[in-house]
Amino acid sequence: MNILSVTSEIYPLIKTGGLADVTGSLPKALEPFGAHTRTLLPGYPKVMKQLGETRQHASFHNLFGAEARLLSATVEGLFVYILDAPEFYDRPGGPYVNEAGKDHPDNWKRFAALARVGAEIAGGLLPDWKPDLVHTHDWQSALTSVYMHYGRARFVPSVLTVHNLAFQGQFSAELFDQLELPSEAFSVNCLEYYGDISYLKGGLQTANAISTVSPTYVRETLTPEFGMGLDGVLNERLNDLRGIVNGIDVEVWNPSSDPYLIQNYSTQYMRRRYFNRMRLIEEFGIDDDRGPIFAVVSRLTWQKGVDMLPDVVDDIVAQGGKLIVLGQGDSAIEDALRATALRHPGRVSVTIGYKESLAHLIHGGADSVLQPSRFEPCGLTQLYALRYGCVPIVSRTGGLSETIIDANEAAMSARVATGFQFHPIDADGLRLALMRVFEAYQKPKVWARLQHQAMKADFSWERSAGQYAELYQSVLQQAAAA
Ligand code: ADP
Repeated sequence: MNILSVTSEIYPLIKTGGLADVTGSLPKALEPFGAHTRTLLPGYPKVMKQLGETRQHASFHNLFGAEARLLSATVEGLFVYILDAPEFYDRPGGPYVNEAGKDHPDNWKRFAALARVGAEIAGGLLPDWKPDLVHTHDWQSALTSVYMHYGRARFVPSVLTVHNLAFQGQFSAELFDQLELPSEAFSVNCLEYYGDISYLKGGLQTANAISTVSPTYVRETLTPEFGMGLDGVLNERLNDLRGIVNGIDVEVWNPSSDPYLIQNYSTQYMRRRYFNRMRLIEEFGIDDDRGPIFAVVSRLTWQKGVDMLPDVVDDIVAQGGKLIVLGQGDSAIEDALRATALRHPGRVSVTIGYKESLAHLIHGGADSVLQPSRFEPCGLTQLYALRYGCVPIVSRTGGLSETIIDANEAAMSARVATGFQFHPIDADGLRLALMRVFEAYQKPKVWARLQHQAMKADFSWERSAGQYAELYQSVLQQAAAA
């Protein structure tokens, strides 16, 4: 089975969040199931710098008005096709936003170009390789199946994975004429969305199957509360909808070999965690005492519930705890967190920015990771936290609710608890959970047991990759029978 994965980010080349972790680790995990993946992504400057030797496969002289080349390279075992289109991708800022944090104004064209080339590859652009199936991810590549549907690749099946329904790629209908699609694509059955264009909706309507990243999130997306305006479309496609929990790359996230840790450790050598804790204390400039260190590694947005932190921080500090935050996002939330840190020197410390190495060290040295998300399709941070014995405290929603087993009495005595869940998802709910955490932390044996159970939880890709492989197979069979 040859799979073309089309994505706007992939670890280790370019990452802004969990999407990159998934697209970067799934290809390796799929190999044992006979699915061979090649990944198409944009040639952002950061990507181009890491490519090494490349091969050119095609050139385009008018890709929505731009010059472009299709290159390939192999990076850390991943076969990637790179769309090198300097006019679209060679610029400062991130994959989606400029240096001021504002969306690139031509995002509609930048990701239409990516999708267009994905559809061309599916339609036979390359003489030496053709995918049996195309796998797209989120709005940035969702348009691929729309171009496939109206072009040469009409009979090549596709799967769309929704990593987050909140981001939809919604643009003005005035742009439709420039997408080079037939007029019927601007209809309620395809791209049209309340008078605008929605790339994600187009993908949801044209992909052969749809998956989201946890069964709970599938159920949630079918409701108006979490469906973000697309619950109607998703309900219509119920038979083609699956929930597959993300796995984690257990080589990249492994406390016994992680190069970003000061000291590696495992369940047998937990005392060594102390050295990572000391490094964290130094890095964040917090007090060196015995109280628990709570950590947040997250996009700082409303979705992630991190605006609740200033409300609970007094409780954390009053009980002898400390809070460290690594993240970036909404400036109002960043400012509120900075102000909170100023109020509690030595107890609360905030680093605004994106640092992969520091994220690893935090998991290896903090006591507990806080994830108070208002909604969470799957969440990866809590899975990394489990593996590093950094006990997760999560809101009961989406993937968080099904990956963390709450430390209630029954789960503790059955020795299966791995963290703490809270509900309702508000500051009071979080406060109550923190009280339970402090109680457990004061009993070293209980805490050690929780850490041990967390570290034994298995979220490697094996099972989930098998489910993706099954999904690919069933889509291929259905397409063959049609
Ligand atoms: P989302 O994709 O919604 O942001 P996930 O929990 O699925 O959330 O994935 C987040 C990923 O991004 C994790 O790998 C996490 O470690 C990483 N991450 C988030 N913020 C930062 C940051 N400021 N620095 C380093 N890594 C971060």
